[in-house]
Amino acid sequence: MCGIFGIVGHEQAAARTFQGIHGLQHRGQESAGIAVLMNHRINVHVGMGHAADVFNGDVLGRLKGDIAIGHVRYSTAGSSEIHNAQPLQVTTGKGRVAVVHNGNLVNASEIRRRLVEEGSILQGNSDTELILHLLAKSPCRTMEDAILDALCQVRGAYCLLFLYDGGVAAIRDPQGFRPLFYGRVDGHHAFASESAALELVRAADIQELEPGEVMIARRNDVEAFKWRTGQQQRFCIFEFVYFSRPDSVFSGINVARARKRMGETLAREHPAQAQIVIPVPDSGVYAAMGYSQVSGIPFEHGFIRSHYVGRTFIQPSSSERTAGVRMKLAPVRSLIEGRDVVLVDDSIVRGTTMQEIVGLLRQAGARSVHVRISCPPTRFSCYYGIDTPDPSKLVANRMSIPEIRDYLHADSLGYLSRQGMIDAVDGGDWFCTACWDGNYPVPLGDARQQQLFSMKSEEEP
Ligand code: AMP
Repeated sequence: MCGIFGIVGHEQAAARTFQGIHGLQHRGQESAGIAVLMNHRINVHVGMGHAADVFNGDVLGRLKGDIAIGHVRYSTAGSSEIHNAQPLQVTTGKGRVAVVHNGNLVNASEIRRRLVEEGSILQGNSDTELILHLLAKSPCRTMEDAILDALCQVRGAYCLLFLYDGGVAAIRDPQGFRPLFYGRVDGHHAFASESAALELVRAADIQELEPGEVMIARRNDVEAFKWRTGQQQRFCIFEFVYFSRPDSVFSGINVARARKRMGETLAREHPAQAQIVIPVPDSGVYAAMGYSQVSGIPFEHGFIRSHYVGRTFIQPSSSERTAGVRMKLAPVRSLIEGRDVVLVDDSIVRGTTMQEIVGLLRQAGARSVHVRISCPPTRFSCYYGIDTPDPSKLVANRMSIPEIRDYLHADSLGYLSRQGMIDAVDGGDWFCTACWDGNYPVPLGDARQQQLFSMKSEEEP
C-alpha cells in the first residue's frame, strides 16, 4: 500500500507535493520521496520515515521546478530499505523518467526472471523497478508509447505516475483495484491516490480516473483516454473498511458514511448485552458510532490514543507490535470498570493487536468484552497491494470463530457478513473481496512465490 501525488506546471510544485503526500501519510510510513523536473533534469529526494521527517523547508527549497511527483511507501513487494524508496528515477533512450507506484504486480517474479536472463541489472527487489526496465527496453520511440508498451506486459494492481520531460502520465489498472484522482490546483493539473489529499491542496474539479484510464498532463493541456476497456471493475473494498481516510470519497461514496453503515449492520447481525460501545481508535471509530446508534448502547471513547505512535500493524515483529499497542492505547478505567463492553474494530489479521486490546480492557476492570469486527474473517492473503501476510499467519485461516474468540479471551466475537459489508457501501458488484472469499479477480500466477521472496527480512519465520 502506498500514496502517490503529482502536479504539473505549478511554480511551487515541490511544496504542493509535500502537502499532498503528507495528506496521504496513513497509506505508508516507511519512506517518503519527491521528484521534480527542472531544466530537463529530474531531481529526487527520498528518505526513510514520515514525510515531515524527510522534508523540511531547505530540502523543499532546493527542489526547484514546476512538475513534481511524490510517494509515501508501505512495502508490499520489496523490502523496507532506502533503495526501494520512491520515486525511482532512470535515464532511458527516450529520456529521463521517474515513477511512483501504488499497488502490486502479480507477475513480477516472471518478469524479473526474464529481465535477469536478458542481462538486466536490478538494484532493488521492488516490482516498480521492473516497470522502468520494461519501459527502457521498449522499441517504442516516445516516452508515452513506451510507458503503455511496458504496461502491456504487467498484470495486477497499479496506479502509476510517470514524470518525464514535459509532463506527468497517470495510469490506473484495468480493474481499478486502487484509487486515483485528478483535480486542478490553482488552475494546474494534479493527481492523488485519494480525494482527501486533493481537497487538502484546495483542488477544484476533482474526478476519479476510471479503471484502465490514462491521463497525460502537460503544462498547457491534458489528454485522457481509455487504455484498456471491457474489464469488470474490482475496487478493493478494504479501502472503505480500513485503509483510506474517512473524508475521502470513492465513486461518490464517502468512506466515513460507509464505515458507519458497516457498524449499523454489525449491530443488527451481532447484537450484544452491554452498557458501552468502545472503538479501537482510530480505525474502529465510525463503525462503533454506527453500532451504538442502532443498538442504543452509548458510545464512549474508552481508549486514549497516543498520536505519537503510527499504525502499529506496520511494525515488523510481533513483540514490537505488542509493545506498540500498549504505547498507543491507554484504557480509561473509570469508563470501563465493572461494565460489559462492546469493542469495535475494522479487522483482525494476525490477531495479536486484538488479543492485546482485550487484555487492556480486562485489566481496566471490564466485566465482559464482546468483540465486533466491521468486515468478515480475513482468511486469504492480498496480492494486490495490501500487506496481509502469508495465509498461515492469518488467524482466521488457522482457527474457527469460537477458537478465535477463545484466543482473544473475549466473551463473544462477531464479524460483519460479506453481503453486509458490500451493502454498507452501495450493494454494487464492483469490489475485490479476495481477502475474505479467496476470489482473486486477476490470476495470481507466481505471485505467492514472489510474496515469499520479497517478504520483509525482519519478519519472524
Ligand atoms: P493484527 O490482527 O494484530 O495483525 O492487526 C490488525 C489491525 O491492524 C486491525 O485493527 C487493523 O486496524 C489494522 N490493519 C489491518 N490490515 C492492515 C494492513 N494491511 N495494514 C496496516 N494495518 C492493518
